[in-house]
Parts: sequence; C-alpha cells; structure tokens
Amino acid sequence: MPRARMSEFRRDPITGRWRVVAEGRSARPDEYRATSSYRSADAEDCPFCEGREGRTPPEIAAVRPNGSVADAPGWTVRSIPNRFPTVDGVGTEGATAGSGMFQRAAGAGLHEVIVTSPAHAPGLPHFTSSHLRELFRFFRVRVRDLAARPSIRSVLLFENAGPESGGTLLHPHVQLVATETIPFRLIEELEGFRRIADSGPSDCGLESVVAAEARAAERIVANDERFAVLAPFASEHPYEIWIIPHRHASTFAAASGGEVERLAELLPAVLRALDRVRPGASYNWYIHGLEPPPGTGSGFHWHVEIAPRLLRVDGYELGAGTPVNPVPPERATAELRAQLEKERSSAPQKR
Ligand SMILES: [Zn+2]
Ligand SMILES: [Zn+2]
Repeated sequence: MPRARMSEFRRDPITGRWRVVAEGRSARPDEYRATSSYRSADAEDCPFCEGREGRTPPEIAAVRPNGSVADAPGWTVRSIPNRFPTVDGVGTEGATAGSGMFQRAAGAGLHEVIVTSPAHAPGLPHFTSSHLRELFRFFRVRVRDLAARPSIRSVLLFENAGPESGGTLLHPHVQLVATETIPFRLIEELEGFRRIADSGPSDCGLESVVAAEARAAERIVANDERFAVLAPFASEHPYEIWIIPHRHASTFAAASGGEVERLAELLPAVLRALDRVRPGASYNWYIHGLEPPPGTGSGFHWHVEIAPRLLRVDGYELGAGTPVNPVPPERATAELRAQLEKERSSAPQKR
C-alpha cells in the first residue's frame, strides 16, 4: 500500500470509478466566501498579483517580454506549482496497489497553476486579443511540456470562474492537472467515440457527431473553417457549449498555430455571450484530450467544453445519476448565437 500522502486515488468497488481523496485541499483559502469583486482592498493579500512572486512556489515558466528574471515582476503570464495539489508527484509509486475490493493508487500526477494576467482584474473574456493569443500559445507550451513526460496519459487544462465554479481565488488563473491514469470522463468519451465510429460514416466518432449536428442545424452556435461551436443534443448543463476543431488530433498539444489563435478568439467570445445571456454566471471550461503513446492513434478528438454553473444538483439528479437541464440546448443555441452575431456586427473594438 502506498505511504500516506497528500492525495490518493481510490477505486469504487461497485462502479469501478476512481475518486481522489485529497485531504490537503481542505486547507485552501476561499476568497469567494468573503467577497466577489475585484476591489483593490481585496487584492492586498493576493499571492498571484505582480510583485508578490515570493509568496508562490518558484515559477515553472513565464512570459517575460522584457527579459526580467524569474520570480520577479515583469511577466505577463506565469506558471507555478499548485500549493494545494489534487495530485502530486510522477513516476514514484504510480502503480495500483491493493486488489479486489480496495484498490488504491498514489495520487500521481502534476498540478500546475497558470496565472493568466499580472493584474487583479476580471479575466479571460476581458483580455486584449494580443494577450489572448500569447496566453493560448503559452497554454499549448505547458500542455506539450506535461504531455511529453513518459508516464502522463492525460493533461486536463481547466478554469474555475465565479463563486459557483469550485474556485477559491479571484485573480485570473487556469490550472493543469496531468495524470498517469485516464480520468473516467475521458474514458467514457473515448469509448463513445469508438462506438460511433464503428457504425458511423467517419473514422472519428466526434466528427460524425459534428456532421450530424451540422445537418440538424438546430444546435450549431458557430461554424467556421477551423471550429464548430455547438450545444450538445443532450447537454448536461444549461448553456453547455463544446468547441470542436474540424481537424482530427487527440490532444490540444497537437493544435496548429492557426487553431490556437482562433480558439483564443472563440472561447472568450462565447464566454462574453454567456455573460450577456446570464450576467455574472459562474462557469468552468476544460480542454479534453488524450496523450497516446507515440505512433498510436487513440481515436480521441480533442475539444473544449464550457459548463456554466447555474444550478445546484438536486436529490433526483444525485439519486438517479441523471442531470436535469431546464434550458433546451436549441434555446441556448439561439440565445448565444444572437449574442455572438451582435458582437460581430458591432463596430470592431480595438481590443
Ligand atoms: Zn491578485
Ligand atoms: Zn476526429
């Protein structure tokens, strides 16, 4: 059995699903409990603000346009280890221990925070387009770096935004959790993609879904040469949106320069549209991708999912395992598409 550590994977003997027990996470500060604004008074204690680099662990990487030294001011994007990791350590004791009823695995993996702006001010939807391009290129650099570690099978890049998102710090940031095990959600999607591909017109299950959605034309929010933006047919969350590249690749690490730049426009635009439809809505977004061993195709197709957090889960949903979504995805599509078109047709702002 692994020694006691910050976090541990445990497999539910009934469902076979993995859970993480991470006691250290309970020590996290929670700013949202105290405030929900970016007033300067709230920023006095923020460890992510420029000038307080000494209050975080040493940086992993940063964008420093004027060549300033590490762990000093002068950065525009900065990545650091998470002080309260969900997973920690790679390749030490990643093997599953225990058998039969009680299987555990060390919470092996890497948990990184990318501070997306030096300023204590609203985040992604409000950044300039040049900063967004730089930021999304940095995202790809970090995903590539983590995905290149031999034992890593999955790198999940995600953002928690707003008090209902599970996030605890206001200062704009995203996180990366890289694991040696493939998360259940991704295994479920991979199996689904393969099942659809077996009977569908395309070798890729997700591309078959996009083609069917394009024909149905009821849930397509936007569609250009690089990405389809759609509200899934059986959306779990109100205003749930997927952003799917047309070009097949299993991981965001393999996204082209053009795809990264277009995503840097599209994702913030969808988040602004969401904020106009549901002002102040908390949300999470995450990039789903798999890191196949070199030379093998996994059948996975990377994409971004946006999950607005407008509801609390009720007893039926928990008891039945069936989410209830009060906003039909067709309505979500119409409302979000109208907002996106409004922004596009208004005079192009100098961003
Ligand atoms: Zn701050
Ligand atoms: Zn594909």
